[in-house]
Amino acid sequence: MSVTEKIIRLKKSLPPQVTLVAVSKTHPEALIREAYDAGQRIFGENRPQEMTDKYRALPKDIRWHFIGNLQTNKVKYIAPYVSLIQSADSPRLLETIDREARKNGRTIDVLLEIRIAQEATKHGWDENELETYLESGRNNELKNVRFRGLMGMASFTEDRKRVRSEFLRLRGLFDRLRTGCFAGEPAFDTLSMGMSGDWELAVECGSTMVRIGSTIFGERDYGLK
Ligand SMILES: *Cc1c(COP(=O)(O)O)cnc(C)c1O
Repeated sequence: MSVTEKIIRLKKSLPPQVTLVAVSKTHPEALIREAYDAGQRIFGENRPQEMTDKYRALPKDIRWHFIGNLQTNKVKYIAPYVSLIQSADSPRLLETIDREARKNGRTIDVLLEIRIAQEATKHGWDENELETYLESGRNNELKNVRFRGLMGMASFTEDRKRVRSEFLRLRGLFDRLRTGCFAGEPAFDTLSMGMSGDWELAVECGSTMVRIGSTIFGERDYGLK
């Protein structure tokens, strides 16, 4: 099946309230262009340099989402154009995003990445750490950051019950924040969860944004990088 057919098929299976992010990391511009020609406008990348090269080469109405581990010294490269940083995982990173956004005369949308998997390799806030941060009110000082919601990655496992319970925990936190700390902020509306292997389950659990790479573009070849 071609990239075009996969995009069309996925869009048909997703409920209308769920946004598709096509995760194009490691894949060449030609494949992104094919997805673009099929109507896809949101792409996810996890390396600042690679995303910036693609941003320069490809149509300007693409919305670029940063979904990977982001070092503070790299924020400046993506700040002029990034549409959503899905992986905001520390106070220091948020402060850097705020500063770089201000330098560029813009506000940058972010998702708070929450660690829901038990795997030590996954990044993100743990729930208590985030609640302490939000209670301190430091987030309110970030005038050029707009909090849009939460992002999380479930454990990489065949155990569907475990994946479901991780998604439901993230959903629960999202609902609590939406009616608590972020009540009165309608922009806090995005729950990004679900990838190629688990997006259907994520949608059942209330996801509003899925990040899908290999199902659309095929397997990634990291050996070429
Ligand atoms: C790579 C990646 C994805 C996409 O993974 P697939 O399994 O290829 O769909 C989604 N989210 C994040 C954070 C990623 O790094």
